Amino acid sequence: MIGRVTVFLAAALFASALAAQESPWANAPLPPPRPANLAPVDPVGDPPQPPPPRPAAADDAIAASDVIDEELASASARRRPEFDRNAALACEQALRAIGGRFDIVEPIGKDDAHCGAPRGLRLSEAAGVRLEPAIETRCPVALALAKWTRDVVKPMARLYLDDEPVAMMTVGDYDCRWTRGGQGSPSFSQHAFANAVDIGGVSFAGRAPVAIAPPPARAGRENLFQAAIRGGACVYFTTVLGPMTNAAHVDHFHFDMAERGGGFRMCQ
Ligand SMILES: [Zn+2]
Repeated sequence: MIGRVTVFLAAALFASALAAQESPWANAPLPPPRPANLAPVDPVGDPPQPPPPRPAAADDAIAASDVIDEELASASARRRPEFDRNAALACEQALRAIGGRFDIVEPIGKDDAHCGAPRGLRLSEAAGVRLEPAIETRCPVALALAKWTRDVVKPMARLYLDDEPVAMMTVGDYDCRWTRGGQGSPSFSQHAFANAVDIGGVSFAGRAPVAIAPPPARAGRENLFQAAIRGGACVYFTTVLGPMTNAAHVDHFHFDMAERGGGFRMCQ
């Protein structure tokens, strides 16, 4: 009897010890929850606060599409990116090393309350490819753009189009404005923090430019080139939106470096 009780107790203890020990899956990181508002939203409807005026020419079409950017991407982070001066200086050094041509802008948006960046730059060339027009941005966006140009755009242009890119057609950069958050709450665009860039196309040494467009719009090699550079951008930027996202992005890529919980990235 004692022997049976002992065995029973030992078994019970073993079982409770097993139960107490955490399953190897208990601490496995869970994927971030799917944003509740991924479905395209109706951009019609005023943001809770009117956008502040912007003296520079603001393209209405781009501004409207970026309201949708933010609706789509608002799942996790519309907050101001962290700024670390040493990190910014190291970033600028890295950018110079891979052919970035720029002037320091310190700060970006000094007259825009709540917007801008303590230090940024005006980038006119990345990895030997001009930016037309130059963009004002924080360094991490510029560095990501330069690496994407060097490691993705140039090789893919050679592969698919047998040509050399000479200029990136930029259609959006720093822009101090509100947009709507996912739950209808007011929020800033990543453009407002100089943490985003919009690319409308690529021009080349020996052929017509490739404008970002929906895939059926043109011949196969250009589609392949566009698909390849979009996919490659997801390695460098934390948000990539484009013609595959929705109708508002048929003519440009939106790239940003939004910081989100759990390292969540959006690649569409
Ligand atoms: Zn954008």
